[in-house]
Amino acid sequence: MDYYDLIIVGAGPAGSTLAQSLQDSGKHILLIDKQDFPRDKTCAGWVTPAVMNTLNIDRDDYSHGRTLQPIRRFRIGMMGQSPVENDHGDVVSYGIRRCEFDTYLLDRVTAPKMLSTPVKSIKREGGNWQVNGTWEAPLIIGAGGHFCPVAQLLGEGPGSHETIVAAKEVEFEMTTEQAQSCQARGDTPELWFCRDLKGYAWVFRKENYLNIGLGREDNHRLTEHLEAFVQDMKDTGRIPSDL
Ligand SMILES: Cc1cc2nc3c(=O)[nH]c(=O)nc-3n(C[C@H](O)[C@H](O)[C@H](O)COP(=O)(O)OP(=O)(O)OC[C@H]3O[C@@H](n4cnc5c(N)ncnc54)[C@H](O)[C@@H]3O)c2cc1C
Repeated sequence: MDYYDLIIVGAGPAGSTLAQSLQDSGKHILLIDKQDFPRDKTCAGWVTPAVMNTLNIDRDDYSHGRTLQPIRRFRIGMMGQSPVENDHGDVVSYGIRRCEFDTYLLDRVTAPKMLSTPVKSIKREGGNWQVNGTWEAPLIIGAGGHFCPVAQLLGEGPGSHETIVAAKEVEFEMTTEQAQSCQARGDTPELWFCRDLKGYAWVFRKENYLNIGLGREDNHRLTEHLEAFVQDMKDTGRIPSDL
C-alpha cells in the first residue's frame, strides 16, 4: 500500500486546481482519474474572465495552440421566435474547448497522477482511506463530477436530492465550407429556451469549432427536442445545412 497525505479523485478543473493550489504545502498528494487526458467533457465551454483570473490563466500563454474565443454579445431567444441580441461592447466571457482547458490545468500539476485509473473501491481502514486496495491516505477528496465515487460513498450523487438535467452536446471542427456558411458568430453565443421553459439549447461557435447542445429538466424526448432545434437552426441558416 502506497501512503499519501491526500488522495484527490477526479482530475477535472476541481481536482487539478486543488492539487495545484496545494503544490507548495509539502503534502504528498495523489491525483487519480479514470480517463486519460486530453479528454472531452460534456460542456458548452464558456468561462468568465473571473474564472480565468481565479485560475491564474495567462490569456496570451493559453491562446498559443488553443482555442480562446472572446465573447462580446449574446443572442437569446425562445425557440421559434425572434431572438434579441445584447451587445456588451467589451469582452465579457471566453469560449474554450474542455479537452484543451482541462489538460492545460492538469499539466500545471506536479503531484503524481494516476490517469486511465478508475476508482473502484474506497475503504476505511485504521483511520485511513484505502483506494483500489493500492493507495491510502487520511484524507480523500471527491472531485469526480456527477458520478463521483466519493460522493456516492457518502450517499450523494445523481438522484439523491437534486433535479437532474439531462443534456446532449456535440463539439466538432467545421470544414472550410461549413465555417463559411455558418452564420453563428464566434463572439456571440446563442441561447434558445424551450417553449415549455424546461430547458434550453445553445449554439456556440469557437473559431472554427462548433458546439451545439440541449439540456432539459424533463429528459423524455430529449433527442426529439434536439433534432427539432438543430433542424430549425439549419432552416434559418444559423448552422451549416449539411451537418
Ligand atoms: C451540458 C453541460 C454544459 C455545461 N456548460 C458549461 C459551461 O459552458 N461553462 C461552465 O463553466 N460549466 C459548464 N458546465 C458545468 C461544468 O462542466 C462542470 O461544472 C465542471 O466540469 C465541474 O468540474 P469538476 O472538476 O468538478 O468535474 P468534472 O469536470 O466532471 O471532472 C470529474 C473528473 O472525475 C473523473 N472521475 C469520475 N468518476 C471517477 C472514478 N470512479 N474514478 C476516477 N476518476 C473519476 C472523470 O473522469 C472526470 O475527469 C456544463 C455542464 C453540462 C453537463
